[in-house]
Amino acid sequence: MSSSTSARPFRVAIIGSGPAGVYAADILTKSQEVAGGDVEVSIDLFESYPAPYGLIRYGVAPDHPRIKGIVNALHKVLDRGDIRFFGNVTYGRDLTLSDVRACYDAVIFATGAIKDADLNIPGIELEGSYGGADFVSWYDGHPDVPREWPLEAKEIAVLGNGNVALDVARVLSKHADDLLVTEIPENVYAGLKKSPVTDVHVFGRRGPAQVKFTPLELRELSHSKDVDIVLYPEDFEFDEASDEAIRTNNQVKTMVNTLTNWLVEQPDHHGTPGEGSASRRLHLHFLHTPVEIIGEDGKVAGIKFERNELDGTGNARGTGEFIDYPVQAVYRAIGYFGSELPELEFDARRGVLPNVAGRVLDTDGNPIQGIYATGWIKRGPVGLIGHTKGDALETIGCLLEDRLSLPAAERPGEDEVVKLLESRGVDYTTWEGWLKLDAHEKALGEAWTAENDGGPARERVKVVPREGMIEASRG
Ligand code: NAP
Repeated sequence: MSSSTSARPFRVAIIGSGPAGVYAADILTKSQEVAGGDVEVSIDLFESYPAPYGLIRYGVAPDHPRIKGIVNALHKVLDRGDIRFFGNVTYGRDLTLSDVRACYDAVIFATGAIKDADLNIPGIELEGSYGGADFVSWYDGHPDVPREWPLEAKEIAVLGNGNVALDVARVLSKHADDLLVTEIPENVYAGLKKSPVTDVHVFGRRGPAQVKFTPLELRELSHSKDVDIVLYPEDFEFDEASDEAIRTNNQVKTMVNTLTNWLVEQPDHHGTPGEGSASRRLHLHFLHTPVEIIGEDGKVAGIKFERNELDGTGNARGTGEFIDYPVQAVYRAIGYFGSELPELEFDARRGVLPNVAGRVLDTDGNPIQGIYATGWIKRGPVGLIGHTKGDALETIGCLLEDRLSLPAAERPGEDEVVKLLESRGVDYTTWEGWLKLDAHEKALGEAWTAENDGGPARERVKVVPREGMIEASRG
């Protein structure tokens, strides 16, 4: 059956309202073919949380207001009124693949990646060994994670040299009061306030020229009050590939300069912990591959690494020398991983929906008509938020190219999905509901500021429980 939707709008469902989903919706509504009047599009955006913005609300660190500011751009898109928002609707539970196929001519999955990548080393299951992504969900007030986070360790290891490792290490080492200006929920402030942490150690398996951080995020570490950065001269190894990267890549050059300056400016050039004046320290180690988490009575008591050297190509190889560090908690921040989606194939190695340029593939590797992917569930959890736009452009390009040959939705009426959700008793939230919840969270921030005379002005205090969010969005 081929599509004959000329008399009615072309109906598109987007699953996931993070940057990937909203960019795709925006690009689709503005694409020449649509904006030029050739085709009328009607988009419904579904989100499993009662609030929109996905990764921005539940993945970006609270002390990154610049990145959180992307919300303003996403807000403008959703506030235009030409895209319907359905929150608190989970694909695979509240809506099946056949439901969305029946109600829409095309479906775009933009569900991202929220889980931690696995690290298969002995001791990973010990109490005190955590996924960085889970910790991020906690400090960002994700509705589906426990409210309490065990912050009992004085010494902590963070594994990985990406921006998530830096986020996790920064939030763990910062004094809670310095996070009060942010939107952190009350339970997160209370948890961090009690933390007895003195030393957070970040471990990368390669050298300073191979870090995956970005310069701004690295430099930001030195802005935490009463936290000394500690570096170790023996970790500063550069091979031919490092020299080449420093010569040709400004970003690498900036980061190596920053790290080297910090190293030489240390109180003593050996970076012995405890020599600075701060009550907390953030150590950056390189050329360490984690091999085992050491346990005592079922709890993390230390971590063993093999020391590495660079092999000339920027990759690391083990030296056969092992070193233990006493730590009481380990956070792995070695990458995110996508989650399987019911009724669709899953590439379990890369954690993505198998696809070509955003066209989702079936078991035999053929494109499934009318099913697309964009963002991290399409290309894996790499790249900054802005990169998602290019991704969406490609996916929308494919969708528009395919449009005339797609099977038409059987029940394309705009009220069909509403009837379906209502018949299933799904307590969905709307854009108007989000505006109410948004205003409520801002009012909580104002009330906090008024109650804590002389305290920092808080723009917002996040509502955490799902029921609380739904209730506030009902006004
Ligand atoms: P990432 O940038 O890919 O970094 C992952 C890190 O984990 C790398 O240093 C990697 O080392 C290391 N790693 C992987 N497997 C390992 C293993 N088995 N043992 C030890 N180390 C291992 O991932 P991410 O930090 O999760 O960030 C994901 C994306 O979000 C990135 O594009 C990031 O820039 C972005 N992000 C941006 C911000 C921001 O503030 N701008 C904040 C958070 C995230 P190798 O390099 O050796 O593989």
